[in-house]
Amino acid sequence: MLNPAIVFIVFLFGLCIGSFLNVCIYRLPASKTISDPPRSVCPSCKQQIRYYDNIPILSYLWLQGQCRHCGTRIPLRYVVVELMTGIVAIGILFHFGLTLEGLIYFVFISSLIVMTFIDIDYRIIPDVITLPGIPIGLIASFALPTVGFKDAIIGMLVGGGSLWMVAWVYYLLTRKDGMGGGDIKLLAMMGTVIGLKGVVFTIFASSAVGTLVGVTLMLVKRKNMKFAVPFGPFLSIGAITYIFFGYEIIRAYFNLLV
Ligand SMILES: [Zn+2]
Repeated sequence: MLNPAIVFIVFLFGLCIGSFLNVCIYRLPASKTISDPPRSVCPSCKQQIRYYDNIPILSYLWLQGQCRHCGTRIPLRYVVVELMTGIVAIGILFHFGLTLEGLIYFVFISSLIVMTFIDIDYRIIPDVITLPGIPIGLIASFALPTVGFKDAIIGMLVGGGSLWMVAWVYYLLTRKDGMGGGDIKLLAMMGTVIGLKGVVFTIFASSAVGTLVGVTLMLVKRKNMKFAVPFGPFLSIGAITYIFFGYEIIRAYFNLLV
């Protein structure tokens, strides 16, 4: 049984990291640096945000979702990202305990949260995360008992390779770029920390969820085909599902077969 005080502290830690992830989501695509200027400013009136107006969740509530100086609405998404990261931190604590393995997966999922929201906004998956992420993931794999270095290499090659092949076949058939290079690098990076099984699971899960959402959007918008849905967020949903429930889902699936 986990100490409730530890659960609460981990949740607060997650909220603060979530607040930092918001900064990354906002600044990375515009190639602003994370640390400069040191304090956050309101994007609308450029007034510095005071430290007591910059507390996760609470500030949003007591400012009633508005900038103190100019009254511009603060997007609800900031709170969503903070809460999401807090919940992930608790999920990691329950699943892995206070272990190095848990910390690695927390950092990994945090990077996925950043990339997901950047992909939704700008349709890009930033190389500044995926390219360093690959060697960092390979090194981290030594500390992952269920993956290990060999499986990390295989996961990276199969992950990047399979999407690269999909992109190549699509190009041969249509002479157009379909799958973005960002998705290829993203799944290669994922492969380093979830291994071969995780990559296969992620491909199936993300295709299933992506198709479901795509068809739903098509029905809702009543248009026939042809609007691009970014694939990165679905890859992230697949990988995160694998980390928390992959073992149970795979076992349930094979139990159905026999
Ligand atoms: Zn303002």
